[in-house]
Amino acid sequence: MQFIVRRNPHALLLYGASGLGKRVFAESLSSLLLCQAPMKNKHCGRCRGCVLKQAGTHPDLRHVRPESSRQIKIDQIRELNRWSVQTSQQGGYKIAIIYPSEQMNVQSANAFLKVLEEPPPQTLFILVADKVLSILPTVRSRCQSLLFSVPKHTEALQWLKSQHDHTDNLAQLLIQSGGAPLEVSKLLNGDYIRLRNDVAQNMLALLSRKTNALEKAANLQKYQPIDVLKVLESFVSKAIRLSMVKEEKNISSQDEDDAPSRLLASLEVTALFQFRDQLLKAVRYLSGNSNPNPLLLIEAIFVNLSRAQIRN
Ligand SMILES: [Zn+2]
Repeated sequence: MQFIVRRNPHALLLYGASGLGKRVFAESLSSLLLCQAPMKNKHCGRCRGCVLKQAGTHPDLRHVRPESSRQIKIDQIRELNRWSVQTSQQGGYKIAIIYPSEQMNVQSANAFLKVLEEPPPQTLFILVADKVLSILPTVRSRCQSLLFSVPKHTEALQWLKSQHDHTDNLAQLLIQSGGAPLEVSKLLNGDYIRLRNDVAQNMLALLSRKTNALEKAANLQKYQPIDVLKVLESFVSKAIRLSMVKEEKNISSQDEDDAPSRLLASLEVTALFQFRDQLLKAVRYLSGNSNPNPLLLIEAIFVNLSRAQIRN
């Protein structure tokens, strides 16, 4: 981190896939820069700067995120520009973390460009982006860029094992998360278990034909659509594996956790592969730039599932 501070850029662009620690890095760097008594490249945790930062009330730190829509709007950037030319209240750095910075629309990005062209002193803009190519090239070229790349699978797995007690399907979760260990941590620390159970229950009801697909899809709206799709995908992948061993009359898994996969495994294997394709397509679609309606995507998946034929 030291070289960044010494070279004193006005804008840093941290980019790379989600779940690789970009935001954690942005927060650590801002803690260090706002600390009034840093030691060995670490914030002290005790000074006024650190206390304000930890309380989330540091006046010289701003977080700019999409508010009501998925976009960072021009009014937010105009407000940021006004703040950035004011003098720092604690006498040190002023820092703004903009995430996800690819969500600035064209007007916002152009307004932001103005401040980058004449950067205020002692002010650092930290742009965090999962999809760097969606940022205007004129903005990118004025930032010092730092790529976060995917760690080796074995290293990431080792780290995850050191962080979590529940380590059953870490390797599979890591693959599903594109190799990004923090994505897996987020799933495990957050409401992953609840999400998994909820998806499982809705799916079981759907497969036993007790309910309608649209209602079940609506039930899951409280979760991140991409997380719902990943959980569904994990059930289907497991069901495909189970169907294969079933052919060899060797099915042994009675794990309660596998109930949805076991039921799915009673569908035609071709239907399972088609279903998995549809899920992976939806994940790609949601991660792209086209802004699809997530509820419609999940509804379509559930409708397909409710029509799948159980094999004899
Ligand atoms: Zn401190």
